[in-house]
Amino acid sequence: MQKKIEDFLKNQGYTYAVIEPENIIYREEFAAKCRMNYCGRYQKSWSCPPAIGDIEAIKKRANDFPTAILFQKVFPLEDIYDVEGMDAGRKIIMTDTLTLQDDLKKGNAPFFMLAAGSCSLCKECTYPDRPCRFPERMLISMEALGIDVAELARRYQLKYYNGPATVTYFAIVFFGE
Ligand code: SF4
Repeated sequence: MQKKIEDFLKNQGYTYAVIEPENIIYREEFAAKCRMNYCGRYQKSWSCPPAIGDIEAIKKRANDFPTAILFQKVFPLEDIYDVEGMDAGRKIIMTDTLTLQDDLKKGNAPFFMLAAGSCSLCKECTYPDRPCRFPERMLISMEALGIDVAELARRYQLKYYNGPATVTYFAIVFFGE
């Protein structure tokens, strides 16, 4: 599975690092920011708290895998206020993350993925009135678990900050073999 993931990431122009999940730092203060609705998606999506349920169980699910790959892509912006550029970049990494997930599902090996931000599969999320339209595809964000992505990137020599007119997004895939 690792080769398949690495081939995909190379082909799509991602930078990545093979990591040990035990080195991921989950910060309660970051998870609290999620609960304080910093990104505006708290209580707005099936992919975000509180709908995702027990955060500790999700962390355990991730950390039970022996290996993971943290991947990143840098997107240029017109300036630091370029919200459209930020959205466009996030859509690209979300689409690529979902494509990788679809590819890996064709095999039988277990894996788990966390995305860059909230699910955006549907124009409008059905939360909370109707069930999720794509429960097998929707991805939980790294932010929802309070992962210290900057520290993780630093630990594995990935550049978290890539200049003022850029935005850098990360996602992660956990796997066994
Ligand atoms: S797949 Fe659709 S309904 Fe499900 S979490 Fe994502 S946006 Fe919401």
